[in-house]
Amino acid sequence: MPKAFQSSSRPFHHPQPQSPLHCGAVSLEELARNFGTPLYVYSADQILERLEMFTQALAGRDALVCYAVKANSALAILKLLAARGAGFDIVSGGELERVLAAAPEAADRVVFSGVGKTAAEIDRALDVGILEFNVESESELELLAARAAKRKRKARFALRVNPDVFAETHPYISTGLREHKFGIDIRRAASLYESAARNRWLEPHGISVHIGSQIRSADPFGAALERVYKLVTQLARKGILIRSIDAGGGLGIDYHAGKSDPAARVRDYAAAVDRALAGFDGQLLLEPGRFLVAQAGALVTRVLIVKQNGRKTFVITDAAMNDLIRPALYQAHHEIVPVQPRTGRARAVDVVGPVCESGDFFARDRKLPPVQPGDLVALLDAGAYGMAQSSNYNTRVRPAEVLVEGRNARLIRRRETIADLLAPEMV
Ligand SMILES: *Cc1c(COP(=O)(O)O)cnc(C)c1O
Repeated sequence: MPKAFQSSSRPFHHPQPQSPLHCGAVSLEELARNFGTPLYVYSADQILERLEMFTQALAGRDALVCYAVKANSALAILKLLAARGAGFDIVSGGELERVLAAAPEAADRVVFSGVGKTAAEIDRALDVGILEFNVESESELELLAARAAKRKRKARFALRVNPDVFAETHPYISTGLREHKFGIDIRRAASLYESAARNRWLEPHGISVHIGSQIRSADPFGAALERVYKLVTQLARKGILIRSIDAGGGLGIDYHAGKSDPAARVRDYAAAVDRALAGFDGQLLLEPGRFLVAQAGALVTRVLIVKQNGRKTFVITDAAMNDLIRPALYQAHHEIVPVQPRTGRARAVDVVGPVCESGDFFARDRKLPPVQPGDLVALLDAGAYGMAQSSNYNTRVRPAEVLVEGRNARLIRRRETIADLLAPEMV
């Protein structure tokens, strides 16, 4: 029996109008008291629910969800997903070490993407026996063959093709056009498979594609996969059997408040994939990142100062662009919710951090209910590309992270200390 999904797309809610914002059953006020701020809070239940949406939408297919580690690489989250059978999409040797640390048994469910793999990274991945290398250039294929020969281990690979499909999203996270650095021109792929098939250390195994991130329509995914499937049939005629198709990640979420139904979005997506790959009965790999974790997470921050400059009001928080860079980098929108609502008229404010950059903002001219110094606010939908893109800019320690599982909340990463930051340096 398919399980009914909770219709709410976010686990953060006020149980009563006057009660503090909760993550599931746990009060964010209590978490801030126990663990300090800024604090990333994630709902394990929501992450698993999202994974289950894919599993259900793709029932009947041989499908493996390979979570894109770069969206949120917390070891505890990797372990949680691995325990439910997920694989992983990695883009560096460092991410491979994360998977091995969190879930060594999942090594053979790892696909390795990325435009610039080093020999050392390839060697390590060959040694631990990953599922497949997603190769992004002819020279990478040569390097892979050379390393495989040296290690005497056959390398299973997919070519990441560039399907030349336009997907409506922010230009920094669009990857499926010929002008982007990603993938191999799909028109050149067949001849590369043919020459690779003659190399005893290379095993043509799959075709992969990834057209970008935060894509909210299913159409470009379908269009890209139709082109991929054409290549599969073309290769079959030449005697090259493609066993897996990796459809990449990129499924978007709604960052604005609204009533969109994530389960319906996954079903639409799966339907588009199914239509494009109707004739394909090999393994289907998917690499969702953002869709699994973004809405499961919030960044909880304390208001330090409310200040008036001319006509503008600035709400200055203890979190900054180094903790969550998406607004500065992609002009991204995050909903901002006071943890303990106050009554009073909403007014337009800029919510900013203490970093010395005018780009250090979370929201501009945002209507917010009244907030005062000492209040907590939550930046929603911060589970993906939040902590993962954080830095120590301005010598700021990175936030702690908490994972909420049912009624239980546990620290999954302690707050950094200044000593952590200074440790690698010599005077
Ligand atoms: C970033 C990335 C993903 C994940 O993208 P999301 O938008 O987070 O789903 C998947 N595959 C590859 C190759 C990527 O680079």
